[in-house]
Amino acid sequence: MTDPSTISKGSDWGYAPAPESTDHIRLKSRYGLFIEGKFTPPASGKYFQTINPANEKVLAEVAEAGEKDVDRAVQAARKAYDKVWRKMSGRERGKYVYRIARIIQERARELAVVESMDGGKPIRESRDIDIPLSAAHFFYHAGWADKLAYAFPGRKVSPVGVAGQIIPWNFPLLMVAWKVAPALACGNTVVLKPAETTPLTALLFAEICQEAGLPDGVFNLVTGAGATGAALVKHPDLDKVAFTGSTEVGKAIQKSLAARGTKLTLELGGKAAHIIFEDATLDQAVEGIVNGIYFNQGHVCCAGSRLFVQESVEEEVIAKLKARMETLIVGDPLDKNTDIGAINSRAQCDRINDYLRIGVEEGAELFQTRCTVPGKGFWVRPSFFTKVAQSHRIVQEEIFGPVLAIQTFRTLNEALEKANNTPYGLSGGVWTDKGSKIFKVTRGIRAGVIWANTFNKFDPTSPFGGYKESGYGREGGRHGLKPYVELS
Ligand code: ADP
Repeated sequence: MTDPSTISKGSDWGYAPAPESTDHIRLKSRYGLFIEGKFTPPASGKYFQTINPANEKVLAEVAEAGEKDVDRAVQAARKAYDKVWRKMSGRERGKYVYRIARIIQERARELAVVESMDGGKPIRESRDIDIPLSAAHFFYHAGWADKLAYAFPGRKVSPVGVAGQIIPWNFPLLMVAWKVAPALACGNTVVLKPAETTPLTALLFAEICQEAGLPDGVFNLVTGAGATGAALVKHPDLDKVAFTGSTEVGKAIQKSLAARGTKLTLELGGKAAHIIFEDATLDQAVEGIVNGIYFNQGHVCCAGSRLFVQESVEEEVIAKLKARMETLIVGDPLDKNTDIGAINSRAQCDRINDYLRIGVEEGAELFQTRCTVPGKGFWVRPSFFTKVAQSHRIVQEEIFGPVLAIQTFRTLNEALEKANNTPYGLSGGVWTDKGSKIFKVTRGIRAGVIWANTFNKFDPTSPFGGYKESGYGREGGRHGLKPYVELS
């Protein structure tokens, strides 16, 4: 049998490089803020660089919005809300949202390539998951725009007003879609702040809004880092704040909104558990684990970062997992063969490496694949820990990287107890041949989304969100419309 670790290294069995072309990408060297339908320079004149994490090359300069710019953006959103958007019929609003969805599809290849360049995720994922799902979210919500009365029968439905939305870097355009599509469909206007390391597809999205003829001020974009986000949250004229990111920042946002009537939804960290029973189809389960934790370099809040495997199949599962992991190709995100791309930033790479060190210091045993990684850029080889204890930091804290912690269990109740022993509650997974076990586990794990015999499946019709320190509020489905409407 071929040694799987040689497959990615250009042996006779290796894959020839298949890089996606970047010739069609036309990035500007500098991007302003998008306020009232136009790109405008920031009041401070300050810009920051966004780089490609796979080679550390600068892709573009992006404006840093300060309080004045944020204020201008919120005022533009307020004006558009009062004068145009709230008065428009749902049917008319829906047309714009459909148009945005169609332009995302038309520009899908460009968006996918830019997503992989700015964020480091493999092109296969941005091409097959991020961008199609982003379009799907706009299509889905466009359909609701004139049917809100059916979503909430017997109630009078009106928009909330101006929404301030802050998103992270793990799914840059998809998070734009999750936030902006329901807001616009329900008649709200938006000021969005993307993450500082992945602003480019949000900027292209602003161009798409122009192309769709969206009325000026309905969608506004302020780029910048944490200070820009904090300035947005602090703005007194917001009716609604939606945030996806770390639990730490989520708590700070909740504090800063205390005693204000601003509506808030938070989608925060996670520490999802996979539970594998001895009767599961183990090859399928291993495939699911690999997808659950190594998908998008583990930069997924619902990543299956804890694995509980029934003791009787532990050895077999670990052997299969190691063999499968050795076949994973780590490298150029733009290569269509790549399974694992670059870590999004130096800071995140350092943080993951800190956890790898902490895990070893705590006494856990580290396994990493033998693949080589490029010299430049930020990379972490797929990794897992065995011999871990519930109290270990690698089990309790969110690492947000391709690192899995493996533990064993004997009984279903023990598995549930261990799986629930976390401050988070975003997602989970169960692998078994028995329907009764699926029901027991899905009822027993306190998490917003639980997958059975699969993992990381997303759909705009399905609500997503957490319990406990994973936040509150739902995105997607009919539940996801609620934060963007007033019901009377
Ligand atoms: P992550 O750990 O995933 O980077 P963060 O919570 O740090 O998550 O960042 C998520 C988003 O929140 C980013 O757009 C970031 O710029 C923004 N952000 C960071 N700090 C603050 C803050 N104090 N107030 C508002 N937004 C913030």
